[in-house]
Amino acid sequence: MNRYFIITVDTEGDNLWKPVIQSYGMRKITVKNADYIERFQFLCEKYHFIPTYLVDYEMANAEFFAGMAKERLEDGKCEIGMHMHAWNTPPIFELKYKRGCGNPYACEYSHEIMWEKLKLITDLLQKRFGVQPVSHRGGRWYIDPWYIRMLRKLGYRVDCSVTPGVSWKESIGYECGGNDYTEYPHKSYYMKGKYLYKEQSSGILEVPPTIIDYPFIDKINELFKKPSNYRAIMSQKIWLRPNGKNLQDMLKLVKYCEKKKYDYLEFMIHSSELMPGGSPIFRNECSIKKLYNHLEIIFERIEESYKGISLSDYAKERYRG
Ligand SMILES: [Zn+2]
Repeated sequence: MNRYFIITVDTEGDNLWKPVIQSYGMRKITVKNADYIERFQFLCEKYHFIPTYLVDYEMANAEFFAGMAKERLEDGKCEIGMHMHAWNTPPIFELKYKRGCGNPYACEYSHEIMWEKLKLITDLLQKRFGVQPVSHRGGRWYIDPWYIRMLRKLGYRVDCSVTPGVSWKESIGYECGGNDYTEYPHKSYYMKGKYLYKEQSSGILEVPPTIIDYPFIDKINELFKKPSNYRAIMSQKIWLRPNGKNLQDMLKLVKYCEKKKYDYLEFMIHSSELMPGGSPIFRNECSIKKLYNHLEIIFERIEESYKGISLSDYAKERYRG
C-alpha cells in the first residue's frame, strides 16, 4: 500500500482570528504574510512534499504569493485550490455588527449570494494562476449538501472541510454555530446527502485532515468537558497541525496512523501562521523559529514512510478508474 502525505495551507489574510465585522464596518484585511510563504515552500521542496494552497480572495490578489505559486505550479511543486471566506469575497453583502458576533459561516448568507461568490472566486483563481481549481476547504471548516453540489457544478473534485471527531457547534459565527463532525469518519470518502458521508458518488471526494483522540483522555471526563471556544476545541484532539507546543503529540499521531495503516496523513497550517505576529499562536520571530524547528523534525519523520502528494493527485490516485 502506498502511503501519502498531503500538506494543506489555508492561504488567507493576516490574523483572521480577529473578528472582521467591527462596529464601524468591516475592518481592513492585510496580506503581509504573502511574503513569508516561500520559506515554507522551500522546506516542502527539501522533502519532496507538494503543498496544496487553498487560497481565499485577498490572497488571490496578493502579488508576491501569486508570482511565487505560479512559478511552482509549472514545475508541479504545488497545487492551487480554493478557500472561501464569504465575508469579503465579492459581491459583498455586509452583515451589520452585533455584539459578540464572530466571522460568519457560509450558511449565514443566502444561496443566491453564495453562488455568486463561489463563481467569482473560482474565476479569479483561474485568471490569477492559470489553472482550474479542483480542491476546496470551506472557511471556518464549513460545508453543507447545497455547497457540495455547487462545488461540483463549478468543477471541484476534492474537499477537506470536515474535521473528524470535532464539533464547531459552540463556536459562533455571525449568529449560529458551526457543523458537528463528531461522528464523521477518519478516512477519505465520497460525499453524499444530508449526512455528507454516504459511500455513494457525489463526485466530491472528502479527504479530512488527520485528527485523532488523545489516547489517554478519559472518555467520561471528556463528556463533561464541553469546549466552548476555539482554543478549547483545538485542545481536545491531536491534529497534524503545529502550535509550537505539540511536537511530541504530532510524532505520536504519525506513529499511531502508521500502525493503523492509514493510507494518508493530512497536515494543515494557515499561511498567516508562517509570519511573526500573523496569528495569535506565533507572535514573534522566536515562535516562528520554533515552528520551523518542529516542521523540520515532523517532516523528516513523515518522509520515512510517506510520499508527498497534492490533494487532487491523491484523489486521482485513491480512486483511479
Ligand atoms: Zn480560513
